[in-house]
Amino acid sequence: MAQAIRRLHPETKLAIGPPIDTGFYYDVDCPVRLRDVDLPQLEVEMRKIIEANYPFQQSFVSKAEALQLFGSRGEPFKLEIIRELQTDRVSLFSDGEFLDLCEGPHVKATGDVQAFKLLSVAGSYWRGHEKNPQLQRIYGTAFPTQPELDTFLRQLEAAKARDHRKLGQELGLFSIEEDAGAGFVFYPPKGARIRLLIEERVRDEHLRRGYQPVSTPHLFKAHIWRTSGHLEHYRDAMFLFEHDGQEYTVKPMNCPGHILIYQSALRSYRELPLRLFELGTVYRAEKGGVLHGLLRVRGFTQDDAHIFCRPDQLVEELQRVMTFAVELLQQFGFEQYQVELSTRPAQFIGTPAAWEQAEAALMQALTAVHIPFERCEGAGAFYGPKIDVKITDAIGRAWQCSTIQCDFALPERFHLRYIGEDGKEQRPVMLHRAILGSLERFFGILIEHYAGAFPLWLAPVQAVVIPIAERHQAYAQQVTERLRAASIRVEADLRNEKMQAKIRDAQQQQIPYMLVVGDREQSQAHVAVRHRKQGDQGSQSVEQFLQQVREDVQGRR
Ligand code: ZN
Repeated sequence: MAQAIRRLHPETKLAIGPPIDTGFYYDVDCPVRLRDVDLPQLEVEMRKIIEANYPFQQSFVSKAEALQLFGSRGEPFKLEIIRELQTDRVSLFSDGEFLDLCEGPHVKATGDVQAFKLLSVAGSYWRGHEKNPQLQRIYGTAFPTQPELDTFLRQLEAAKARDHRKLGQELGLFSIEEDAGAGFVFYPPKGARIRLLIEERVRDEHLRRGYQPVSTPHLFKAHIWRTSGHLEHYRDAMFLFEHDGQEYTVKPMNCPGHILIYQSALRSYRELPLRLFELGTVYRAEKGGVLHGLLRVRGFTQDDAHIFCRPDQLVEELQRVMTFAVELLQQFGFEQYQVELSTRPAQFIGTPAAWEQAEAALMQALTAVHIPFERCEGAGAFYGPKIDVKITDAIGRAWQCSTIQCDFALPERFHLRYIGEDGKEQRPVMLHRAILGSLERFFGILIEHYAGAFPLWLAPVQAVVIPIAERHQAYAQQVTERLRAASIRVEADLRNEKMQAKIRDAQQQQIPYMLVVGDREQSQAHVAVRHRKQGDQGSQSVEQFLQQVREDVQGRR
């Protein structure tokens, strides 16, 4: 793509062009303002390069040579990158007349590229800083085969229609008030209602499974985070401030808080496993450029728990967590998922023997509950191996959700112990686990999964009562009150609008049931039921309707 741009606009300066999850992009300084309609022309030039089947050739030069080379080609951004390189061996790739700074690897030749598509153009800044020169970012994607590309493009179209930022606005589910700061989420009543329903479900399920609720402060003294290692490894992502000559941090994670609770008493082997659970709100100073709707924010709440157990309890605890995760995700409508087991990375703490034991425990637990998984060698955290669960949404996209981690570091760092059966002090094993993960992110995924049409049990408004004429308003209000008293989330639409307009609005708001009331309904104490997807359901007594709703909610339809 960069080669094609240089062919069409030779004065273009190239900045950086990395691969991303959905394909790739290149930031360029092009004298011509590129628009989406210019992309097909660029694709034509790219096809010529592919047909020419230029081999990709790697070469190495010294830093001085690289500076000379890119200086003579008038590439100021490349010069900046080269100057910052820590090595004197600079890797270059060329194909045909084109040369770029690149570590590789590449396919053998341009002809190997089978199916690609340029997707969009957006504005960007050199290195993401607003004070730096403005660039143009061209996004594209490529697949080994055309059918795979077609599937991806169809998914992309479907995803646009259900973008949670768009639906969040239209349905009044959440807002991000730039005035208050990027990455902080506000929930108006409808969104807050769903949030509450999610929290209630999550809390109930934890209590049912022997977790003990705890609550910890949002900020505490910085030295706790020194002990935990966060200040050393995580400082850039933490909000730090000073008060009365003391350094404080807003918590970026809940673990140290739960550890302090564990330490607040002398623990005996009989008390274990201790499963401490909190809907814990954390704050992370994410960079502005990576923030994205609800998916990447600066303040979020996790369904976080830490399990402190004896080594001999580890496998059973892991089995319980896995079963719990699958069942809870199912309740929210996610039936399909993929599981990954990430093992010891190059940099790790603890002994290889302890790692092997923990990895074996994770594997044993997954096998025992018959969950197929993929091993990701070397992808574990430096402090322990982990299991990740990725859920598949309604249009086939995978979303990282649950994480279960074994931790060797924190029990050591905080000198955690319990008195064993033999009366001697022992070190407990610690598991970190979140099932939904960030509730903000999970809410975003839910919005996209359901395209805003939440199942009845999660719908912020379950039914709207629509009087046909003004004379039916009193009856409409009566029905509304009856349903509300039965804990149905119901509203009466008493606006001075035509019935058809009210139905249309209710459809747009994805309200599951519309209850139309006119002369006949009023005289029989009935409602004419209309479902947002199934349409007209006929006339029912209010009590019949109530029964139907109860059954649907129970079955989470
Ligand atoms: Zn944790």
